[in-house]
Amino acid sequence: MSIVHRIHNFSAGPAVLPLAVLEEAREHLLALPGVGMSVLEISHRSKPFEEICFGAEESVRRLAGVPDGYQVLFLQGGATMQFSMVPMNLLPASGTADYIETGVWSEKAIAEAKKIGGVHVAASSKGTNHDRIPSAAEIRWSSAPAYAHMTSNNTIFGTQWHHLPMVPAGVPLVNDASSDIFCRPIDVAKHGLIYAGAQKNLAIAGLTLVIVREDLIGRAPSSTPIYLNYATHAKERSLYNTPPVFAIYILHLVLKRLLATGGLAAVEANNRRKAEKLYAAVDGSGGYYHGHAQVADRSWMNVTFKLPSGELEKRFVAESTRQGLDGLKGHRSVGGIRASIYNAFPEAGVDALVAFMAEFARTNG
Ligand SMILES: *Cc1c(COP(=O)(O)O)cnc(C)c1O
Repeated sequence: MSIVHRIHNFSAGPAVLPLAVLEEAREHLLALPGVGMSVLEISHRSKPFEEICFGAEESVRRLAGVPDGYQVLFLQGGATMQFSMVPMNLLPASGTADYIETGVWSEKAIAEAKKIGGVHVAASSKGTNHDRIPSAAEIRWSSAPAYAHMTSNNTIFGTQWHHLPMVPAGVPLVNDASSDIFCRPIDVAKHGLIYAGAQKNLAIAGLTLVIVREDLIGRAPSSTPIYLNYATHAKERSLYNTPPVFAIYILHLVLKRLLATGGLAAVEANNRRKAEKLYAAVDGSGGYYHGHAQVADRSWMNVTFKLPSGELEKRFVAESTRQGLDGLKGHRSVGGIRASIYNAFPEAGVDALVAFMAEFARTNG
């Protein structure tokens, strides 16, 4: 039983964790059961830590139904490091990689890939301030891309792919899924590589999950620094060097809980219900609230909307903060409000925001 008062945390990342996970971590922080030492103190090569690390890997495989022929890697450097590692491993200097540009994070991924090889922007939503996902008809692949890169959820703009793009046969699809990984079932087999910084939907900062098809491992030039080569980590099962042990431990707890509560189908139903409630509050406000993303491309994870004026948005943020609804200020590139409601965000928090929105519109009309 928690006696601590927790407010509603709408942060885009690092973000809210399941209370049960925080409680278990606290309970066992000083001594892991049967070990007598903290997870913070033991060797990453000890048996207890191997159980945590390989257990987390096994949970990723079970939860996502990872097929044979894929490696699950626990790396560091965030999704940002993957912006570099993906092209360093998969893009020959003379080759071209195709990127679908749907937000700030894809723009950053593109900038890093350009340092390694050629980049073709196959489609972009920049013209409308990334309020949508490009349609299939808009996507123009290059003739033989080394891979095709997408960003499944655009954390800042609040758009999300609700289908995977049709990629030319034989071209590996690379997905930055940092802000919506495991928000619903995922068809790993349709991907060559999936990566995600852990601090939004998985665990805490410091850990990056990479799921990569084995034939894409071992393609990096020999000049590649050892840490930045996927082959290094695949060979050593993420224990080439000291991994982010506490973040892996938290991931282990989060995934164990997800598996015990119905897996990704249950998570999907939850997320769908939470997002629908919040968008209904936006759409049902008689135009007082106005969503940024086009309806079909709305994110289940980051709900972005505007008020009639910047003045009212400021007041909305200040007043909601006073009422224990934290982190609702939108990113500067969109403005307005952003409510991040990741897997671990409780439905009661959505209900509290919906009630606040109605009251705010009534008293600030
Ligand atoms: C947060 C985020 C990133 C950056 O993640 P870091 O782990 O901080 O490097 C990249 N891509 C997406 C989609 C994100 O949401």
